This record gives sequence, C-alpha cells and structure tokens, in this order.
Amino acid sequence: MLRQIADGVLAHESEFIQSNAVVVQGKAGVLLIDAGITGEEMVAIADDLRKLNQPVVAGFSTHPHWDHLLWHAKLGEAPRYGTARCAADIKAFLSDPSWKDGVAEELPPEVAGDVPLDLLGLITGLPAGTTQIPWDGPQVRIFEHQAHAPGHAALLIEERRVLVAGDMLSDVLIPMLDLNDTADPIEDYLAALRLLEGVANDADVLVPGHGSIGGADQLRARIDQDRAYVQALREGHVPDDPRIGPSAKPGWEWVGDVHAWQAQHIAEGNERGGSPG
Ligand SMILES: [Zn+2]
Repeated sequence: MLRQIADGVLAHESEFIQSNAVVVQGKAGVLLIDAGITGEEMVAIADDLRKLNQPVVAGFSTHPHWDHLLWHAKLGEAPRYGTARCAADIKAFLSDPSWKDGVAEELPPEVAGDVPLDLLGLITGLPAGTTQIPWDGPQVRIFEHQAHAPGHAALLIEERRVLVAGDMLSDVLIPMLDLNDTADPIEDYLAALRLLEGVANDADVLVPGHGSIGGADQLRARIDQDRAYVQALREGHVPDDPRIGPSAKPGWEWVGDVHAWQAQHIAEGNERGGSPG
C-alpha cells in the first residue's frame, strides 16, 4: 500500500484520479498529508502505519477541495491543519447544512459508496504567514499561493528533498485555475509556478496531488509544461499539451472538457475587459 519515495517519506496512490497521500516519518509518529479518498484505502494506510508502530501525530490538507480534506476515524484524532485561508474556506463550505449533498453529487460512481464524509474538512487553520507545519519531525516548509484554490499550500520536506505540490505539476491534470470570483486567476497561477520554481533546486522528488511521482527532471519539466498551458490559455491559443486531445491517457479524456470550459471562461472574461493581458 504505502511505498517509500524518499528516506522517511512514503506515499499511497489512490485509484481515484491517481490521488497521492503522503506520509512523513517523525520522531514519535507520522505527518499525513491529504489522507486519501476511499474508506478502504484510508483504513489500509492506518493498518500499514500500525504495523510500522507509527501513529498519525499530525495531518495536513493542501487545499480546500473535498478530495484533499477526507479523514477516517482509524487514522486517529491528531490535529489536522491547513493554511488560514484554506481553513476559512472549508469552514464556510461546511456551514451550509446541505454540503454533503453537494459533495455526494461530485463523487464519481466508482467510489461514491465508500467516501466517508463525516470527518471531512475538520482542520485547524495555521495563523497567516506560518512557514512551517508545527509537529515533531523533519521541517516541512509551507509555500502558500492562490493558484487552483484559496490558501493552497505546497510543502517542502526540506531534509528529505521532497516537494508535495498539491494540485499543480501533474502529468495527467492540466492546471485548473480558481475561477470563483478571483480577480486575476492567470496571474495567480503564474505567480505560484514562479514560487515553485524558486524551490525547485531544493527538491529531488515531486509529489503531485494527482498523477505520477517524479524526480527533479520531472519537477522542472512540469513547471515549464504548466506555464506553457497557462500562457496559451491567456493568449487564447489552443495549448499543445499532452494531457488534452488525442494524446490524453485513456480514461482521462474528460480533462479536455475541463480545458474547454476554462478556455471559454477566460475568453468571456477578456471580452468583458475583466482580465487584460
Ligand atoms: Zn485534487
């Protein structure tokens, strides 16, 4: 289930859109980042950790989207964190009494029967400007940006040289912009890519929120690929991108639909004069 991706760092890939959960070994237990999707796989992670004698001592959600906010009782009751903006966003979402219906509608049928929602989003926001996850283990630096979702965090496990990118730098998903009332989603995305480029020299392993884990070469290639996509979107070109069109992986053709929707949204914004250059 869990496989080692660096010294003291393990990962589990879900069958649901190749979602990656990451485990960082600390002194008295582990930090679990984006815990997983189905109850079955979160229980499997909990079982693996019990065999390793490693309780979960902290959790972290990279951003406030349901597939990064789940938890299972068997993982225990450790504090779970996110950035302040991430926590505020999910708190507002959970204040709508019908939120479970909204999530249930989004769940694909192959996992819908086994996604435990009761502990979704029960995270504590770290004070704005917090640069490290508070826990007893290797330093995990937080790089907050506003691409993809409010208060999105990329995490650098410094001494392990692992970058946990959240929903960026994927080999299967195109950049998905946060188009919910954001003033300049394109620039937010490009700024986040610059932020990741600034730490690229400090990482040998890249873990995207969805897709294949890669090395330093993949980290750089995917920064360039995501930037080219976003620039094409800004300029109204059809991106030459292997993740959409005929070269998309079987089963991932829907990513092209996401692209078409984004392109239309950006074009309409430009017509309104809302998003220059
Ligand atoms: Zn995601």
